[in-house]
Amino acid sequence: MTTASSPQSFDVVIVGAGFAGMYMQHRIQQRGLSVRLYEAGSGVGGTWYWNRYPGARVDVESVEYSYTFDAELEQEWSWSERYAAQPELMRYANHVADRFNLRPNMQFNTKVTSAVWEEASRRWQIKTSQGETVSAKYCVLATGFLSSGSIPDFDGLNDYQGNKYLTSRWPENGVDFTGQRVAVIGTGSSAVQAIPIIAQQVSQLYVFQRTPSYSIPLRNCPLDREYEKRVKAMYPEWRRRQREESRAGFIALNYEPAYSNEQSAFAVSAEERLKDYETRWESGGLCYYSSFNDLLTNQEANETLASFVREKTRQRVKDPAVAELLTSQDYPILTKRLCADTNYYETYNRDNVKLVSIKGSRIEKLTPKGLVVHGEEYEVDSIIFATGFDAVTGAVSNIEVRGVNGENLQDHWEGAPRAYLGLMSNGFPNLFFLDGPCANGALVSPMLLSEYQVEWVDRCLGFLGTAPEVTIDAKLDAENAWMTHMDEVGKHTLMHMANSWYMGANIPGKPRALLSYLGGLAAYREQCRAGEANGYQQFAVSR
Ligand code: NAP
Repeated sequence: MTTASSPQSFDVVIVGAGFAGMYMQHRIQQRGLSVRLYEAGSGVGGTWYWNRYPGARVDVESVEYSYTFDAELEQEWSWSERYAAQPELMRYANHVADRFNLRPNMQFNTKVTSAVWEEASRRWQIKTSQGETVSAKYCVLATGFLSSGSIPDFDGLNDYQGNKYLTSRWPENGVDFTGQRVAVIGTGSSAVQAIPIIAQQVSQLYVFQRTPSYSIPLRNCPLDREYEKRVKAMYPEWRRRQREESRAGFIALNYEPAYSNEQSAFAVSAEERLKDYETRWESGGLCYYSSFNDLLTNQEANETLASFVREKTRQRVKDPAVAELLTSQDYPILTKRLCADTNYYETYNRDNVKLVSIKGSRIEKLTPKGLVVHGEEYEVDSIIFATGFDAVTGAVSNIEVRGVNGENLQDHWEGAPRAYLGLMSNGFPNLFFLDGPCANGALVSPMLLSEYQVEWVDRCLGFLGTAPEVTIDAKLDAENAWMTHMDEVGKHTLMHMANSWYMGANIPGKPRALLSYLGGLAAYREQCRAGEANGYQQFAVSR
């Protein structure tokens, strides 16, 4: 494909140097197109660049949470732990950036502030925080679905005079909490990972819990070299099974008998059900997502697992009153993201850790010295906000995106985001989303999902060819049909029963709507395949 690009004019602009954006850039470079990738951070790695809090590590096995597109990369890279920690994931991201020569076309410390479709040139006019305006035939938003960190608007937020930290914007050189009194607000995945480490440093830790999570042991360990050898010997077949046979994109080679259990929880005896739960408990990680196939659709089935996990949790906590607070979940398990921990519950057995429940209440205010709950002031040297993300739509909504006739993407998304196959929104030609809304980022290994989407976009660019004015736009009826399908699939699940980021329900004022497709990876791939196999009939292509 030929390109006719001046320095400020590119075939493709990509936003975000996470794993999705990096792979997209690699494919574009291979295609011989001109590309510029903008990244707000000073380096690659996306979510792993920003989430440097103590204890941050992946909870999908490292050998699965890695690129699948290059066999040599798979063979040459060696993970040190079953679940890699943030620094190792950063080394991997940097290795990939160097290995595929991505850096020359990346610009760091630069946010994209707006992307406006110009009908006359049939190109995107893109502005950045550095004051540049560039033009691109295609724009790819690889901004991530958990990248816009959120600190709630607490009363007195600016009055507090101590140190404030947000888990998803952690200082690059780390923080030494030795001897400090520290508050952690939140008990989601980030807090569950950070609390056990921070508790070892501080003189006193207060954890402010609004909703207890369900957490299961991660069972991290050094990566067994024999296991690694087995994996590497059968990578192509294993990857195929990840893509085509798994529900969520992971298989776990060591797991016997079948990792994905395709029966109802009530198709087996109570003993057999318990055996499945016990085996998964010992195996560790997120394996309950692959347990009985009605755990997310049948409340009674769900409760068999929820009560199992609650009982296991009680056994981990010495003080029954604290155990009660930690197990008072009032929503079905798996309807908020399951946490996978190392010594999280055991941390509450320490003398210097106090759990403060604010369930049904709230943090009343922050004061110059600390925070007030139930009329009591907790004086602390540092507050850690482990308060989550404006998920899925947050990062995109920070960019002013205007499509045909100047329509603002946020207006098009009023009430809920809309995107055919999670890839394109009607009225926004030549604009692609990766790991964005209406795809299945929530319950599928993000690595596999984004790789699949990148390859889909890449094939689409091949189909469109080199004509300078070619455009592609998702048809409105295709987008509507996809949203109906997404709702149909979603409404048969229990997801609406929790105030999760899956539902946009963790951010005050955000419309409550299912943000992800829950049909599983294989079904999603099938839908995408159909979307291109018929010659892109669900898209308006203009040449
Ligand atoms: P999160 O799961 O949304 O948890 C945020 C926590 O902050 C919740 O406990 C929430 O309570 C609390 N919170 C929010 N606003 C509050 C307020 N006004 N007052 C008191 N508490 C408040 O966020 P996260 O822990 O950062 O995790 C987000 C997602 O990132 C995870 O679900 C997961 O997908 C991903 N993640 C993955 C890993 C990993 O791979 N290992 C690690 C970290 C994160 P409520 O529950 O009551 O809202």
